[in-house]
Order: sequence, then C-alpha cells, then structure tokens
Amino acid sequence: FDDARLAICLAQTLEDLGGVPVNYARVESFLKDSGRVCGAVVRDVETGQAHEIRARTVVNATGVFTDTVRRMDCPQTRNVITASQGAHIVLEKSFLPGDCALLIPRTDDGRLLFAIPWHDRTLVGTTDTPVLETSLEPRPFDAEIEFLLKHAGRYLSRKPLERDILSAFAGLRPLVKANEARNTARLSRDHILLVSPSGLVSVAGGKWTTYRKMGEDTVSAAGFPGRPSRTRNLHLHGWTEEVGANTHWRVYGADCPRLRVLLQENAEWSKPLHPRLPYCAGEVVWGVRHEMARTVEDVLSRRTRALMLDGRASAEIAPTVAAMMAEELGRDEKWIKEQVSAFQALADAYLPPRV
Ligand SMILES: Cc1cc2nc3c(=O)[nH]c(=O)nc-3n(C[C@H](O)[C@H](O)[C@H](O)COP(=O)(O)OP(=O)(O)OC[C@H]3O[C@@H](n4cnc5c(N)ncnc54)[C@H](O)[C@@H]3O)c2cc1C
Repeated sequence: FDDARLAICLAQTLEDLGGVPVNYARVESFLKDSGRVCGAVVRDVETGQAHEIRARTVVNATGVFTDTVRRMDCPQTRNVITASQGAHIVLEKSFLPGDCALLIPRTDDGRLLFAIPWHDRTLVGTTDTPVLETSLEPRPFDAEIEFLLKHAGRYLSRKPLERDILSAFAGLRPLVKANEARNTARLSRDHILLVSPSGLVSVAGGKWTTYRKMGEDTVSAAGFPGRPSRTRNLHLHGWTEEVGANTHWRVYGADCPRLRVLLQENAEWSKPLHPRLPYCAGEVVWGVRHEMARTVEDVLSRRTRALMLDGRASAEIAPTVAAMMAEELGRDEKWIKEQVSAFQALADAYLPPRV
C-alpha cells in the first residue's frame, strides 16, 4: 500500500470525472450569503494571490486541521479532533528477507508493531503518541525511534541500529475525541460527519481503509437531491485488469504505456536517477506533466517515494530533479537553488543523526 500514490490516484480520478483538483491552494476564510457558507477565499500559495471560489456545498476534509477550518466558519466551535503521531523507520530489505510481513501484537507497553516488505525495503511501524501541536511536517521523536529499533531488533534477521535507518518519518492521525480518553490508541478510528448551522460539511477521523464509506456518508450529508454517491463501484484512474510485473511501475496502472511513450522523447529520461533508487529521470517529467508536481519535495516524497526509501540518495538527486523540473515549469536558477536547499534540509530531518 502506498498512501501518497492513492491520494494522487484519487485526484486523477476526480479530474477524469470532470472535477478540478487544485494543489498549493490554502483556504483562508469562508464566503457567506445570509449566514450560509457559499464558497471560500483561497490563497494560491505560489503567487500569493487570493481568489474567491463559490460553491453550492463546501466540504472540509482537512484531517488534523479539521477544527482549525471549522473555526473559520464559527470561531466558538469546540474541538472534535485530537492528533496522534505515528512514526515509521525504513531499513534495508535484508532485515526482513522474503515476502511475509511481521505483526507483533504485544510490545512492552502493549502497542502493536509491524514490519512489512515495502518497495524493496523493510518498513517498521508504528507508534501512537498523543500530540498537542499539529504540523504539516511532523518529525518522529527520539523515544519513538528507540522504541521501533528496540522492538524490531527482537524479531528481524539482525538488530537494526540508528545508522541502519534509511529514512524515518511520522504522520498525524486525526482521531475523533472521546471524553477524557488519555490513550490515543484506544480512541475511535471511525469517522464523524458534522454539518454546521451555516451548512459547512466536515468529515473527520476515519482511515484510508474506509475512505469510500467516508465519501459516501459525506455526499449523503451534503444532500445533493437525485445524485447519490458513486464511489462504491467506481473504478479509479489507471485501473486495469492486467497485473503488471512486480516493480514500482505498478502504481501507474493503465498509464504505463503513456509513460513509456514519454520516455522515448529523450534518451536521458530512461536512465536511473540514482543507483540506490528504482526511479528513472522521466518519472520527474511525468510527475510534473500529469501528476501536478510543483516542487522537488512533491516529486521525491509524494510522486516517487525516494525520500522515504533512502533519505541520503534523495538529497543527492535533488539538484538533478530541480533542474529537470525548472525546464518543464519554466523556472529560473534562483528557484532551483531554493528548491534544492529546502529539500536537502527536509531530507536531513528524515535521517538519524550521523554516527
Ligand atoms: C501513522 C499513521 C498510520 C496509519 N495507519 C493506517 C492504517 O493502518 N490503515 C488506514 O486505513 N489508514 C491509516 N492511516 C491513515 C489515517 O488514519 C487517515 O486516514 C489519514 O491520515 C487522514 O487522512 P485525511 O485525508 O483525513 O487527512 P490528511 O491526509 O492529513 O489531509 C488533510 C489535508 O488537508 C489540507 N489542509 C489543511 N488545512 C487546509 C486549508 N486551510 N486549506 C487547504 N487545505 C488544507 C492539508 O494540507 C492536507 O493535505 C494512518 C495514518 C498515520 C499518520
């Protein structure tokens, strides 16, 4: 499973159905007409320009930021979401050879731990740490890394040390608040739907596993007469009955032939970006042209998963990726420099302290 690729695939599916996905657009306030939400003021983060976008229904699906956005509608709103951080570390495949995953149902403090084969590496996770601050780029705590290394060491082919970590990353789970619950591992993974007096529909909590059900419930709550949700049997962008070879190209599904055609445009594009990474240069161009990639981080973190597979290797290819993107997007040297330095700082944070 690749969460970022599924999110991209859903945006592409939306476009296939006539929708207009937009990224780097931040909702700053809501437009109201006679007390009803009728749109939003959205800032284009690249140009700094604000735009008014009108809509019959506005759905707030912003994960751990749900309450912040609800307060734009009604400042007195009480929080319904709490955040729980989950950290992961990525190790060489040799730590867990073969195709089977490990599930450790009980660790020293009762948490569940897994180690799974992931993109030809071993992914070890996860933790469940309550956090008060919500950030777009949460970082694993030292105690989380220690916990993962210590427990994984008991079951993997050899004990991993900090220096074996290829990448370490964290995410924030939006959990529906339970009264006075202290242990976020026990909080509900179910979703909730809230419709404010001004008509703002908020969907929060939930899981990737239940995203279709969340979508269905949201469409019902929004109430479009005669237009029920179509998600139950909807094919996603790139769906195909042909199961391709077990390489990372599988994520492109039915787009594979188009990607192959693109690679023929330039002989350089079939070349690998880095000997320790599975990606070729043409995938950068593909990400920009077909997957709305706007920054080096987009390409190396959420279109390819280079940053998660090998933080150091991803930092090494950042200048090449930035130069290719600049060519596609018509950016200048200054943009390249800024992108490279921003990405290298990010990649540093994905690596354990050098030993
Ligand atoms: C450690 C961890 C483990 C998990 N394990 C599982 C699992 O085993 N199974 C499973 O099914 N799921 C799992 N999940 C997924 C999780 O449960 C949620 O489904 C997911 O993280 C939340 O998705 P979301 O779309 O609600 O929020 P997010 O993915 O956080 O997306 C919210 C989006 O809203 C945007 N946003 C915020 N404010 C604004 C604004 N003002 N204007 C515009 N955009 C805004 C943000 O930029 C972000 O892109 C896991 C998540 C984590 C972190």
